[in-house]
Amino acid sequence: MFIRRPLSLLSRFNKIKLIQSIPALSSTTSIYDQNPSLIAYKKIIDIYDFYLNTKIEIENGLPVPSTATSLIHGRTIMDIGTVVKFEIKSGLRKRSGGKLCQCDVVTDVNIAFTEGKHVKRPDVAFFFTREKNLDVDSVTTRIPHCVINVTSPGNASKDLITNLDIYLPGVNDYIVVDVREGAQKIIHYTQHKDRKHMYDKRSTLQLTCGCNLAVCAADIECDDKSCLVHHFIQR
Ligand SMILES: [Zn+2]
Ligand SMILES: [Zn+2]
Repeated sequence: MFIRRPLSLLSRFNKIKLIQSIPALSSTTSIYDQNPSLIAYKKIIDIYDFYLNTKIEIENGLPVPSTATSLIHGRTIMDIGTVVKFEIKSGLRKRSGGKLCQCDVVTDVNIAFTEGKHVKRPDVAFFFTREKNLDVDSVTTRIPHCVINVTSPGNASKDLITNLDIYLPGVNDYIVVDVREGAQKIIHYTQHKDRKHMYDKRSTLQLTCGCNLAVCAADIECDDKSCLVHHFIQR
């Protein structure tokens, strides 16, 4: 089913030209792939990206366009990530048991969930270790232990509803930072969609790995001088 859509899109192009111009870095034939549908998904993602300049995710085998971003969306991701990176670099970030956090904190990486049924690109993903990419892979099958999504204008339901069944229970901590005007809140799911905590505007969450995570949904309107996200330098 998922094959048909991109093919119809491709028929608009000259097929010979198409084959010759497949991007050299196309990741579609990784020898590490055991999952044939994942190979197809990678191809579809590459095709949409390269020829149609459209970022997609795969949900239940179907291509779904990524939601539009906004200034507040991008800035919130950067602000949260900056604090985490700063804490890791300066050795301030500790897991339970006192071990230093060595998480790899990345944005916008394609990740295969639920045995490759879904390929998602969370806003921020935390992997326990930093690992070199084995190839020019556009999709990783490593599952992050923590995912943060910041709501996008007009499509918060994706983060608040659809994603729950995709990320949980594989991900230990799924955090939604709802930055919408009038909604500003944080929802922290731990391992199950029924296990959630809600916070007003900002909070310092305790992740399952033991690390703390400061999140804030107030963006530039944040007026809390003790906010770890927006005033962390002055701590
Ligand atoms: Zn960590
Ligand atoms: Zn703040």
